[in-house]
Amino acid sequence: MRQIKVLDPQTANQIAAGEVVERPVSVVKELVENSIDAGATRIKVSLREGGLKMIQVGDNGYGMTPSDMLMAPKRHATSKIESAEDLNRLHTLGFRGEALPSIAAVSKLTITSRLEGSYVGWQTAIEDGTINEPVETGCPSGTIVRVEDLFYNTPARKKFLKSANTELGHVSDMIGRMILSHPNIAFELEHEEKNILKSPGTGDLAQAVFAVYGGDVARKMNEINYHGEEKIFGFVSRPELTRSTRHYYNFFVNGRYVRSSELAAILEEAFYTRIPAKRYPVAVVHFTLDPQAFDVNVHPTKLEIKFRNPSVLKSSFLR
Ligand code: ADP
Ligand code: MG
Repeated sequence: MRQIKVLDPQTANQIAAGEVVERPVSVVKELVENSIDAGATRIKVSLREGGLKMIQVGDNGYGMTPSDMLMAPKRHATSKIESAEDLNRLHTLGFRGEALPSIAAVSKLTITSRLEGSYVGWQTAIEDGTINEPVETGCPSGTIVRVEDLFYNTPARKKFLKSANTELGHVSDMIGRMILSHPNIAFELEHEEKNILKSPGTGDLAQAVFAVYGGDVARKMNEINYHGEEKIFGFVSRPELTRSTRHYYNFFVNGRYVRSSELAAILEEAFYTRIPAKRYPVAVVHFTLDPQAFDVNVHPTKLEIKFRNPSVLKSSFLR
């Protein structure tokens, strides 16, 4: 008979990490969401080798105390909810307290942070599941999380990753969507110290579109704006500007990116007489809906949204 054993925490975290941390882009997404939750207005992401060697996310958010640093990398440690009921009035992106422990289990993680108004910063490193006592350090106010040698201790996962360029492509797509969903935050993405994306963070969606897609696209977009039971605001390309894939559909519901075949169908229905077959518009559209209308526990990118009045939506796309 085999004996039943409780897994040691490091092994349990590595297994859980398999769900949260699939590749560099999943790490970047979790870290950037933490920065947004910390109230950051500037977020800088730096990568080496597509994030395989190094991922660093720096923000000007409210920072962490040394005791936060000792707590945060532990499983189910979160400052965002205290009970399951809190889920119903949640306004932050994260809440499960799973990201940092999962990332720490499969990489070498360093957290450097200074609280706003405090004159001294702190740094801690986590390696092989051990959280080191934070030491004093000089740093800008905000938080810098650095992830090195992703999957160094899980070679099977590492083998599954694609080239640095492919991984960078995924990160750059995701930061592009972050820029479009948060025009009020100034984002920067750097790879091997070269600038890839940079947004001004002025709150102007048109400028965010410009930062992600460039002037040629931005100049060929029409603004759409509808205020009713639902609020719809954004930009959709004029018929002269089309793409060969749906890759340029960006739908955000209450600030969150969603992949919605329902929205795609309405957009295409609005456009099908205007653009050639097998060509697709560029769309950056924000929907503001009553949060009671959907469930936060549902996987956010698979969110099903039921619009009370799809024809309003269709005509707002056409404007
Ligand atoms: P969650 O985001 O679900 O709470 P995480 O593991 O991602 O869980 O983060 C754990 C905690 O660490 C957060 O609740 C927050 O208190 C703190 N934290 C993480 N990143 C930052 C950051 N960039 N700035 C300030 N606090 C942070
Ligand atoms: Mg988080």
